[in-house]
Order: sequence, then structure tokens, then C-alpha cells
Amino acid sequence: MNNNDENNKRLAVLISLLEKSSLFRGIDFEAVKYLLLDCQVLHYKEGEVLLSKSQRNDNVYVILSGSFRINLIQPNDLTIASFGKGECLGEMSVIDGSSTSASVIASTDSSVLQIPHDILWSMLSASHGMAQNLLQILSRRIRTDDEMLVDDFYARRVIEQTAQTDALTGLHNRRWFDDVFARQIKRCNEDRSPFSLLILDLDYFKKINDSYGHIAGDRALIAVANVLVSQLRPTDILARYGGEEFAVGLPNTKLDEAFTIAERLRRAIEFLALPFRSGEPLPHLTVSIGIAKMQKGQTPETLYAAADAALYRAKDGGRNRVII
Ligand code: GH3
Ligand code: MG
Ligand code: MG
Repeated sequence: MNNNDENNKRLAVLISLLEKSSLFRGIDFEAVKYLLLDCQVLHYKEGEVLLSKSQRNDNVYVILSGSFRINLIQPNDLTIASFGKGECLGEMSVIDGSSTSASVIASTDSSVLQIPHDILWSMLSASHGMAQNLLQILSRRIRTDDEMLVDDFYARRVIEQTAQTDALTGLHNRRWFDDVFARQIKRCNEDRSPFSLLILDLDYFKKINDSYGHIAGDRALIAVANVLVSQLRPTDILARYGGEEFAVGLPNTKLDEAFTIAERLRRAIEFLALPFRSGEPLPHLTVSIGIAKMQKGQTPETLYAAADAALYRAKDGGRNRVII
């Protein structure tokens, strides 16, 4: 194998690991792939320290495998958060200089992609998608951090105006969904392929905010969004449609298949362990789901209304259920 083949092979493996990561999600890798070759993959054994508090850090790390825990001061102090595959570490160093605010330790044998700041900046100028992803990661981190550095209202506004993305969860937003949904419906009307729509609304979500605070509520929404992403196919269309409401469009999917998918989502959310504080998890969340299948000649509005009506029946029927 010549050097070029070897580089291509290395890139293909790396891209497949990065595709779903928070920093590289949804981007065109063509624009940044040669920069990726300048980044190193580093391996850490369980208990090894990736970053120490107050030490200089000029890199951002993307977790390729394993997981890391964040301890406020010393490696054996109380763990305040955990990060797994696809998540980013050290990204605050991009905006607040280079000192690290906590220690980061491998919870299991793990590997990371190390991206030096200068390469990161080159990537950001080459890829609008990456710049957007980083903004989301930063605004999310700032929001969930106890010390709020930036007024998140403005951070969210900037992101939402420049993109069709929800700043909290990283999912597409309602504007994007309505646009894509209308095009899909038009296509289904033309080629008569099946299409199903699910609307999901978290049950008694207000109670989570009231009992555990808004930041816990936000974290729960992020966790639910991640479950939805992991459970759906790339061709399905998914958005955070409103506060604690998500919409899923399932192209080429008949009603019985849509029901199976909805049940799978409902169960995945029901069993989701929600992080709160170390040793103090949130109660399990449930979701109600309404389903409607596309009927001949239906418009996006009438299909949406049908799924919404089913959702209300699911709420009325006691919640934590899927109704057609
Ligand atoms: P139901 O089972 O009938 O859906 O009850 P619910 O409490 O989920 O419904 P309700 O519409 O009364 O409350 C929705 C709550 O979702 C209220 C609002 O504070 C919360 N919410 C909406 N968006 C966000 C958000 O971005 N972050 C947080 N933390 N909470 C949010
Ligand atoms: Mg609700
Ligand atoms: Mg609601």
C-alpha cells in the first residue's frame, strides 16, 4: 500500500468514528479531511489523566471510544460530569484562553482525537457546519456550567438565526422541519409512497423543571434528543418542534412499522437514565406519542393535525403511550 492509500484508509476509519460526534455531526468532510490527517489519535488507560486543572491546554479533544469523567480539582475528587463517545473535551479553552477548569480522567480505556487550536481554527474557516456545531457545543456548555460566562439568550439567538438548528439539543428546529416535511409530503403525493408522522411530547415535563431546576430540564432534553438520534435512520426527519415536543417524519414507512418505531422510542426514553448530580439521578421520564399516516391528497397541515390529535388522545388516555 502506498502512502496515499494508507492515508485514505486512516481517514475513512476516522471519519466513520467522527460522523456522529457533536463537533463533526452533519458536516461535509471533504472540506476538512486533509486537516484531520494532522491530528493525532491518543489512547488513555483507565485512570489516566487527559487534562489537569489549571494546566495549559491548547487542544480540543473528541472522544472516539470509551469515556472520561470530570473532577473539579484532583483526579480522586467528586465526579461532576461524564463524557462518552462523540462528545468534546477542552473546547472551553477555545474561548477562555488555555487554562483548564477541571481535571479530566479516563473512566475506562479510551481514545481521543486531539485537535490543536490552530488546526481547529483552519477547520472552522473551511467548514461552516463545524463552526455551527462548535457554537452549539459552547453555548450548551456555558449554559450548563454553574458559572454562566455569556448571556445564553444572545448565543441562542445568533445560532438560531444563522441556522435551522436548535441550540440546546443540536437537533434541527421547527423551521427546518416544516420546510423538509412539506417537500417530503409533496414527493409522497407524487409517487404514492407511504409516509408516517410521529409527534412526541414529554410527559409532565414541567415537574422536572419545578423540582430540579431548568438546567436539569435542559440536560434531560439533551439526553432525550440523543436517544432519538441514536434510534432513528439517517433518512428519517427529526426536529425539536417546540419546548419539549419532537417531530419525526418517517418516509417509506407504513403505519404498522411507524407504530413499532414509536414504541421503540417510547421505551428507550422510559428506560433512559438521566444524569443530575453525582449519585443523584433524575426520575425517569416518559413520552406520549401520536402517529398519523399520510392519506391521499393530504397537506402537511392536515397530516400534522392528525398526529397532534392522536397525541392528545395519548395524553388523555394516561400518557406514556403510543396512539394512532
Ligand atoms: P404534559 O404531560 O401534559 O405534556 O405536561 P407537561 O408538564 O410536559 O406540559 P406543559 O406544556 O405544561 O409544560 C411543558 C414544560 O416544558 C414547561 C416548560 O417550562 C418546559 N420547557 C419547554 N422548553 C424548555 C427548555 O428549553 N428547557 C427546559 N428546562 N424546560 C423547557
Ligand atoms: Mg409535555
Ligand atoms: Mg408540550
